[in-house]
Amino acid sequence: MKLHFPIEQLWRQVRKMGAQERQYSLNAPVAEPVPDIVTRFNQGGAEIALEDVDVIGGVLGSHGAQIVLYIPDQGQGIDEVLQDGPKGKKVHVADCQTLEQMRQRNRFQRYQAVVNVTGDFNVFGFSMSQRQSVEGTARLRVCINCLKHLNYKGYVTERGQASQILSRFNLKDFFAEHSTLFRYLPTAFIEPKSGYSDDWKEISRNFRARKNYSCESCRVDLNAHKNLLHSHHIDGNKRNNSVTNLQALCGDCHRKQPLHDNMYVKAADLSVIQKLRKNQGVLGDTTDWNDLFQLIDPPYQGLLRLYRSRNEPKPEIGYEVMDALGAVKAEAEMAWPRTKFAVVGDQKAKESWGALGWKVETLEEALRGFRDGK
Ligand SMILES: [Zn+2]
Ligand SMILES: [Zn+2]
Ligand SMILES: [Zn+2]
Repeated sequence: MKLHFPIEQLWRQVRKMGAQERQYSLNAPVAEPVPDIVTRFNQGGAEIALEDVDVIGGVLGSHGAQIVLYIPDQGQGIDEVLQDGPKGKKVHVADCQTLEQMRQRNRFQRYQAVVNVTGDFNVFGFSMSQRQSVEGTARLRVCINCLKHLNYKGYVTERGQASQILSRFNLKDFFAEHSTLFRYLPTAFIEPKSGYSDDWKEISRNFRARKNYSCESCRVDLNAHKNLLHSHHIDGNKRNNSVTNLQALCGDCHRKQPLHDNMYVKAADLSVIQKLRKNQGVLGDTTDWNDLFQLIDPPYQGLLRLYRSRNEPKPEIGYEVMDALGAVKAEAEMAWPRTKFAVVGDQKAKESWGALGWKVETLEEALRGFRDGK
């Protein structure tokens, strides 16, 4: 098996550095060969045909990796774009109305598919001032229709917040928030981070033991899955290991901390955390919508806000149906058991709910329903 990045070596390095804050699971996506095309997405991008763009949970992907689409050729606007990135052609991050219209007209501009967590895009064009082709990097802005399609952070439903949501949008968070939907993470996310003190590993272990391996935010007990409990630096300074600056957080609560750097959670890990929360009854009666936003996997947040804005009843989060022997027959991120309606991640889950006689939509179908004014 040929690895395109030396993951074991990286890990040895990470362990040596004692970088315990980000515990990756080695069981899943990253530890397998990455297709060449995905490597290219991560290294500046590759031109892509619309048919090759997959839509997963409303966002864009290809060959198992999350991507965004942009147009490198900024034409004669290049001088202005290099000065002021937001004036350039917009970056698509979701299956928005603009892309849908192009699809319908069978027109698809020459988009570049790229895994970009920095926000700096390679662009070129014909400079009118220099009378020649020029190139450079520009901080292009995200497409507004994309934010609408996802109801990202409540872009549609939260009155008066749209401009703030737009100005605060950043790709690093956006990719991290959708980590559960894709097989291959941005390669920038799996590079080891430096900056921890030499004794961090031990400090973190002792600290988490003192907290009885329980999350200080949602209270889930992770004694059976200690690697899913992290030690978080409240002030963001990885060398400030004073007890008052540390917080024990499960992987899910950890990634929801503000200003967090490249924090993500794998689908399998999130599912473990959700199950433990449920079994341990730490959720209690989640009667408040705000609790649901805390619990739900971020790709579903926009949809949850849409349901709230329509005064729909509150869904159950991480709902599952078991057979007589206690094996899970079907799992849904959102479900309304009384009306037997569920929203799920993929077609396979959809089929298992369908077999139980439920009405079910994928996240993508539900978002599209709102977009097209269902
Ligand atoms: Zn768009
Ligand atoms: Zn937690
Ligand atoms: Zn942290």
